Amino acid sequence: MTDNDCLFCKIVRGEIPSKTIYQDDAVMAFEDIHPAAPVHILIIPKVHITSAADLSLEHADLLGRIFAAASQIAKEKGIAEQGFRIVTNSGSFGGQVVPHLHFHLLGGRQLEALG
Ligand code: 5GP
Ligand code: ZN
Repeated sequence: MTDNDCLFCKIVRGEIPSKTIYQDDAVMAFEDIHPAAPVHILIIPKVHITSAADLSLEHADLLGRIFAAASQIAKEKGIAEQGFRIVTNSGSFGGQVVPHLHFHLLGGRQLEALG
């Protein structure tokens, strides 16, 4: 898949509308179209990276910025105090459906234990 055909690259370019929560030159955050919790926001790098399997140390600054954005959004959405979850699915066994790296920010209800 080229960046041209990538769903989240299209959202970054504004070709597909989204409810944008936050953006800067490197990071964008928008509401998930099928929320799994009262707060369900996707945080993505604007540059196309397919999944967490493609990350290396060269992405250290970008990842720091993504998590700083997540923390800021969690505070703004009022979920920082009670708690929240940040999840990234990678590849088919990981349950990744959209092949553009994204972090789910979930909160606003008690989330199930993972194990
Ligand atoms: P994944 O399963 O790849 O980790 O997560 C993909 C997420 O993208 C899903 O939670 C899904 O609801 C969301 N999603 C899929 N298509 C769109 C879309 O067009 N707009 C938005 N805002 N979210 C989408
Ligand atoms: Zn993309």
